[in-house]
Amino acid sequence: MKYYSTNKQAPTVDLQEAVVKGLAGDKGLYMPESIQLLPDAFFENMADESFPDINFAVANAFFGEDVDTETLRTIVDETLNFATPVVKVSDAIYALELFHGPTLAFKDVGARFMARLLNYFVRKQGLDKVNVLVATSGDTGSAVANGFLGVEGIQVYVLYPKGKVSAIQECQFTTLGQNITALEIDGTFDDCQALVKSAFMDKELNEKMKLTSANSINVARFLPQAIYYFHAYAQLRKQGVKNDIVFCVPSGNFGNITAGLVAQRMGLPVKRFIAANNKNDIFLQYLLTGYYNPKPSVQTLANAMDVGDPSNFARILDLYNHNHEAITQNISGFSCDDASIRETVKACYEATGYLLDPHGACGYLALLEKLQPNETGVFLETAHPAKFKDTMEAIIKKGVEIPERLQAFMKGEKQSIQLSKDFFAFKNFLTANK
Ligand SMILES: *Cc1c(COP(=O)(O)O)cnc(C)c1O
Repeated sequence: MKYYSTNKQAPTVDLQEAVVKGLAGDKGLYMPESIQLLPDAFFENMADESFPDINFAVANAFFGEDVDTETLRTIVDETLNFATPVVKVSDAIYALELFHGPTLAFKDVGARFMARLLNYFVRKQGLDKVNVLVATSGDTGSAVANGFLGVEGIQVYVLYPKGKVSAIQECQFTTLGQNITALEIDGTFDDCQALVKSAFMDKELNEKMKLTSANSINVARFLPQAIYYFHAYAQLRKQGVKNDIVFCVPSGNFGNITAGLVAQRMGLPVKRFIAANNKNDIFLQYLLTGYYNPKPSVQTLANAMDVGDPSNFARILDLYNHNHEAITQNISGFSCDDASIRETVKACYEATGYLLDPHGACGYLALLEKLQPNETGVFLETAHPAKFKDTMEAIIKKGVEIPERLQAFMKGEKQSIQLSKDFFAFKNFLTANK
């Protein structure tokens, strides 16, 4: 499969190059040249198929031409070896829980898949060791660090702002050791991101080391996320639901929802999508006006969605040939503030006993307000509420237990290397460690 850039000014590349480069030379995002339509029978029989078979069928449609069958099976089996249950929350509304992986958030799936795919290319092509640089304000760092932990041929550097990530988050990427190095930067998240960007642009550094990124612009992280929409459909079919399904996706950089749009292109019977946002409502404004107007992000309780210029917007435009009307026909928008997030968490918990996290709460509220009669709504529960323990406890006035997996991280010993935000110090550090 060839991948083209959404900016159409860079040459098409093969999968390996798209994965190793991340971003195209013209700063566009890579897209597969074709999206394979799966046969009707596949969907008709989905309730009876095993998840490993579904995973393979979807991954094979994307990567089957470029990765041998046995390896691809192993990759999906190792990536998706945790539950993705669909749980009924209230009348006609279900949660697709994507938080049963190692760091209790949906980014685990893409990070793990990308690590294994990169390892495959490193081995197959005899590439030099690949160095993954990732700047994090918290959650991306933990998913990437855990996804890549112990994967041969890849060294990961996680850059995070000193004193600005939560204790739980910090443990998740500083206690791992092995091929994961945590760099505690004396600066802000933006400083961390600037260091990563400068590293990618530094010619000398790129000649010495193979550098790549691991955010949702990478096709190896974004495409595999299509798989769990099939999991939701398989489980709904088992319960007799097969029509008028609406997916509601709490969105920040819009990688998750774009993967859902790709699943729909593959034939998955989805009626329509809702993109649920917090106060950062750039996408909703685009739907309403036709103008895309990025803004600095504002801080909210659903902080993984505090994005003012969603990077995957370019992919959505590309999927619909920049046709605003076509986009609005399939996707509606929604925005809510922190007060509504609090109210929704509290009301849902009191009425149903289901504890939403702040991101899932945006999705649930969007469905409460936008779902039409005869439709079945599925919102993606993107993180475990215990990741936001203090926020949750303040809302429901009850203790929230931290799952054992998170507690285990907190027992580990923190190891990090302190660096200033100076690029030359960072560059020297990287080259000395090569
Ligand atoms: C990253 C993240 C999101 C947003 O996902 P995008 O793919 O960036 O739209 C939503 N919820 C949680 C918990 C996340 O970590």
